[in-house]
Amino acid sequence: MANKNAARDQATELLTQFNVRSAPVPVDRIVRGLGITVQYAPFDGDLSGMAFVKDGKKIIGVNSLHSATRQRFTIAHELAHFVLHLERLEAKVHVDKGVLRRDTLASEGTDDVEIEANNFAAELLMPRSLLITALGGKNLDLEDDEAIASFAKKFKVSPMALQYRIQQL
Ligand SMILES: [Zn+2]
Repeated sequence: MANKNAARDQATELLTQFNVRSAPVPVDRIVRGLGITVQYAPFDGDLSGMAFVKDGKKIIGVNSLHSATRQRFTIAHELAHFVLHLERLEAKVHVDKGVLRRDTLASEGTDDVEIEANNFAAELLMPRSLLITALGGKNLDLEDDEAIASFAKKFKVSPMALQYRIQQL
């Protein structure tokens, strides 16, 4: 069973620790503040990113060929592995392909570790409290592409990730 509450709690705690009060969430600053190095490289195909520990240093690798919003989601996802699954990373490199696929974002996905990492990433990049403030008591029409795009831009996430997140709220 994926521990989604733990994932959400850890993300919320980091947002408090780094005093994040408005969108977009500065994921780079958070990662650096935690002493993790981000390396960008043009990986082949669907490889989004990886997380590993080398000579005691925590490193996140990101596919520089992907869009900025996808890179942000990847960084948040890999950060989750450091926060939630560090003992696994100390044993071996964790590699992610197609992190944003709907099947891994969905709670019905099969890999608990990936579900937890995606839940953490969604909460970190689109914190519930900031979304509610941004919505200002209104309902966002999920069919309204323009509204979704403008919200996604504010949070620097993909429209798909935002749509999915709002459905979960
Ligand atoms: Zn992963």
